[in-house]
Amino acid sequence: MPSILLTNDDGVDAPGIVALHRALGEIGDVLRVAPDRDQSGAGHALTLNSPLRIRQVGEDAHAVDGTPTDCVNLGIFQLLDRRPDLVVSGINPTPNLGDDITYSGTVSAALEGTLLGVPSFAISCDGGPGRVCFQQAAGVACEVARRILRDGLPGDMLLNVNVPREASRGFRVARQGRRIYTEGVVERIDPMGRLYYWIGGVAPEWRDDPSSDYAALKAGHVSLTPLRIDLTQESVLAELASRWEP
Ligand SMILES: [Mg+2]
Repeated sequence: MPSILLTNDDGVDAPGIVALHRALGEIGDVLRVAPDRDQSGAGHALTLNSPLRIRQVGEDAHAVDGTPTDCVNLGIFQLLDRRPDLVVSGINPTPNLGDDITYSGTVSAALEGTLLGVPSFAISCDGGPGRVCFQQAAGVACEVARRILRDGLPGDMLLNVNVPREASRGFRVARQGRRIYTEGVVERIDPMGRLYYWIGGVAPEWRDDPSSDYAALKAGHVSLTPLRIDLTQESVLAELASRWEP
């Protein structure tokens, strides 16, 4: 049986990861190592200034008082006897699309798996905490996992998978979309009369691009977006060098 390391950013007992654990258990030996609380929005953060504790919460489930990236490191270097064949992160209850993926703990955990040399994917679904949504996405995750375990992934990439709410029209390979940034901070007054702020209280809007992950999901497809590790903007390397280098 292949060895699968499973994590998320919603917490070790979140319904998405529980559904995914059950489904992946059919195709591999799954070890769940996930944050002990909701770490959504943690991005690729790594805990460097405090100790990390691991608490076993089930036969093959461990809670970590850290980030999703911490969990992948502890899973691979501490808890597993050998390097896993696959890292899976999710199921996030809301989509991870476009520019928003840079904030995503779900996607960042898969990024960490890739950096550590393990084929990895992140999976998110569109449709709140409903059980149906997770079951469908867990089925999609199994198909993606089977294919990656059989065929592998090209090097230096991770796969970002988003599953639509309605019955899927199949996979569509899509590019990372671009968000339209509007007012993103909500200002309120607390009961003591002091101002406070909440980031991200406004629903995102997306640029109209039929090749984007957003468009694929909206059209009822399961979007598959290959993400690169190397963020270098190749197209301007030569121009910048000609201007800046002596
Ligand atoms: Mg989340």
